[in-house]
Amino acid sequence: MQHFDLVILGSGIAGLSTAFSAVPFVSSIAVINKGKPTSAFPGGLINYATGRKANPVWRAIETFPQAIETLTDIEYETKTSFLHQNGVFRPALTQDMRQFFIETLQRDEWPDETWIEWIDDSNDIDYPYPLEFGGLWLPKGCTIDGEQLIKSYTQFLSTHEKISFFQIDEEPKVDPQNHTLNFDQKKFSFDKMVIASGSDVPSFMDFDWHRVHPVKGQLIEFETPSPIQHSYSLSALGYVAVLGKQRAVMGSTYEHQFDDLSLTEKATTTLKEKLNRITGNSLPFKVTQQWSGVRGSAPNRLPIVGVFHEYPDIYMNMSYGSKAYIYSRYCSELLMEEIFEGKVVPEDIHVRRFNRFRDDES
Ligand SMILES: Cc1cc2nc3c(=O)[nH]c(=O)nc-3n(C[C@H](O)[C@H](O)[C@H](O)COP(=O)(O)OP(=O)(O)OC[C@H]3O[C@@H](n4cnc5c(N)ncnc54)[C@H](O)[C@@H]3O)c2cc1C
Repeated sequence: MQHFDLVILGSGIAGLSTAFSAVPFVSSIAVINKGKPTSAFPGGLINYATGRKANPVWRAIETFPQAIETLTDIEYETKTSFLHQNGVFRPALTQDMRQFFIETLQRDEWPDETWIEWIDDSNDIDYPYPLEFGGLWLPKGCTIDGEQLIKSYTQFLSTHEKISFFQIDEEPKVDPQNHTLNFDQKKFSFDKMVIASGSDVPSFMDFDWHRVHPVKGQLIEFETPSPIQHSYSLSALGYVAVLGKQRAVMGSTYEHQFDDLSLTEKATTTLKEKLNRITGNSLPFKVTQQWSGVRGSAPNRLPIVGVFHEYPDIYMNMSYGSKAYIYSRYCSELLMEEIFEGKVVPEDIHVRRFNRFRDDES
């Protein structure tokens, strides 16, 4: 039986970040993935002013720079490109949104104008679409080619002698008491395990009380007959991730009830309508690809990180909502401090914050 100091279930952005952060602490790591990582999507944003109210993301001035540093290092090491530091504009599409956006500037502690700026006049950023209510300019906002990122991150970690990757079709069978797992006639033992399985909870865990809400999202990738007149991406009614001169993605997560991840006509129509609303019908486009995925969202919209109550050597690092790219590296570092240095992950992201639900239900 092969032994690994650390086994990670899931090789999406959370699993990869866990492996990267674990390298200094262990001698051997197995990253085991069932299926295709959801994080590998055609295009998304790193947007630090989040939601309808454009609130700053959790610990923005620490989490955001750490994410960018990690991703630029991976680009450098792998000589690939997946991170576009092209800025994000958040047009206010209604009077209410304008009000929310102005409030975030007054209420929240943003570092300075290199992070966020109010724009009233479309000339200031060469905004080519209608701009009745102004908007927020996020100069540091980024656009991600998610598929390439996951490829490059995996390639980067695969060169590391401590890390082994396993791609499997079926869920591995885990025996948490005996610290073993098996799949495809292989059997491993492990000291510690990190569950980084996105919005899926492995069947050996009693985690019905977790209250994580799965949300389905779909994307359309499209091409335009002439160059898009802005290089930055947009965040409104979902997002428009600009990936090239004539190529972009419109994405949105909005299906709160769903049975499967199939692509739907209804989503194509909805996404086209959203795109037309943002651009005032002034951007002709042709859809080239559609994609769907699911993200897990906890009640406070923060990830779930830390030791799992039932087993002292099983940890969670999951449920990243719509902020996987910003939070995953920072939270993985915090998790390593909990596992190997005796520190405790902060309460607002700790898995323990769900204990009260479990107690309510027992
Ligand atoms: C339409 C859409 C748009 C999005 N846009 C953005 C965006 O712009 N910016 C952003 O930051 N985030 C965005 N997200 C969210 C982001 O995609 C997720 O938060 C991210 O994928 C979560 O990463 P993860 O590694 O936790 O999970 P995943 O990417 O889901 O990876 C988990 C992996 O674990 C595997 N797995 C599951 N169970 C097991 C098991 N028992 N054993 C082994 N492996 C297992 C799964 O097959 C999967 O491969 C978007 C999501 C959607 C759906």
